[in-house]
Amino acid sequence: MSKLALLGGSKTVNSESGDMFKWPIINQAMEDGVLQVLRDGNMSGTDITKKFEQAYAEWIGVKYALAHSSGTAALQCAMYGVGVGAGDEIICPSITYWASCTQALTLGASVVFADIDPKTLCIDPDDIERHITPRTKAIVVVHYLSYPADMDRIMAIAKKHNLKVIEDVSHAHGALYKGKMVGTFGDVAGYSLMSGKSFAIGEGGMLTTNNREIYERAIVFAHYERHNEVTDEKLKAGTGVPWGGYKYRMHQLSSVVGLEQLKKYPAESAEINKAMNYFWDLLEGVPGLDAHRPAKNSGSAKGGWYACHGLYKKEELGGLSLKRFCDAVQAEGELNCRPGCNAALHTHPLFSSIDVYGSGKPTNRAGYSGDLPVTDNVQAMTFNIPWFKHYRPEIIAEYAAAYRKVAENYRDLLPGDTQPDDLQGKWALTARKG
Ligand SMILES: *Cc1c(COP(=O)(O)O)cnc(C)c1O
Repeated sequence: MSKLALLGGSKTVNSESGDMFKWPIINQAMEDGVLQVLRDGNMSGTDITKKFEQAYAEWIGVKYALAHSSGTAALQCAMYGVGVGAGDEIICPSITYWASCTQALTLGASVVFADIDPKTLCIDPDDIERHITPRTKAIVVVHYLSYPADMDRIMAIAKKHNLKVIEDVSHAHGALYKGKMVGTFGDVAGYSLMSGKSFAIGEGGMLTTNNREIYERAIVFAHYERHNEVTDEKLKAGTGVPWGGYKYRMHQLSSVVGLEQLKKYPAESAEINKAMNYFWDLLEGVPGLDAHRPAKNSGSAKGGWYACHGLYKKEELGGLSLKRFCDAVQAEGELNCRPGCNAALHTHPLFSSIDVYGSGKPTNRAGYSGDLPVTDNVQAMTFNIPWFKHYRPEIIAEYAAAYRKVAENYRDLLPGDTQPDDLQGKWALTARKG
């Protein structure tokens, strides 16, 4: 193939990307719906939100959905719902956005981090049991970068040790694990619906569960105007004031967008799936690069492909640093190829030394989680790929050709490869474009 653009050759990606990466896709019904809510002064109502909840619950295939002001809020209510409280511990992967676990601190609980699986980048079932103590209450499973975590093994461990399972589905709306929707395996699930996510409606979150008690506990905690839905006598006795002191209602500009988004998301998500799988099919067998996607005949599939990444194997490319690889890919056109993913949470002082509430000791009492070797290396293992929103094979092929060209010409990059990989990563994923 021709000379790499980084070394003075011509670029591979020359087409206009147009709306290939534009997200979310806003239609007339969304615009009309938002204006109607505004004109009606109905932003703080719950009539549309309840319709959205019902439709969302039907789509996921669960009994209850409760809308929240953010995914962070939904996951906090999920934790409270399963009974996470003072002195408890939750086990969570360290490679995730902080809102998978940080809310446990406000509930008086601590976070213990487990390692991730190098293929799925989700919590490694083999690394969960060594972190279980008599204080462990729940396992938080993140379907990271849309990859469905190994739920069979995780649920078996939870059952054996009598632990609750909270699924964080913020990256994986509509993903399937062995043919079944993620979010339906654990006791409860939380979803971010903010604008950067696959199911994007503006700031918002959702909690889903089949368990009435969890649903009602979430209502009691942070949805004070819905306390009339509570049926449990013990909970009913103390309603009227939100127990957490929080108000987590979704505003109806978001819920009306969500209601409309739900009508088209399954089709949009299917097209993204087709586009992204086509990209990876074109790169099948290219040295150094592995797809981050479930095997084709597994019945498992990504949903929405939020913040899609690839897996880098530098040993197949003469030890070429990921940084140098990404620089070369970027030079091939309008590509946003950067190394790494979310920074490891366990390295942040919030989980070791910071005393949030002035109690005189670190707020996260569980402290250090021990060795997490895959977690420690993941920044040198992962890189962005374009997040195509449409199946347009000619354009996708151009982008795939850029990655292929760099991988196949890696030898040309070795002489100038002086930058070590940054193993720290970033505290948040900010990629919104390809
Ligand atoms: C975005 C995100 C959240 C939090 O959702 P918000 O809606 O931003 O509050 C939680 N978990 C993960 C894994 C996320 O990526």
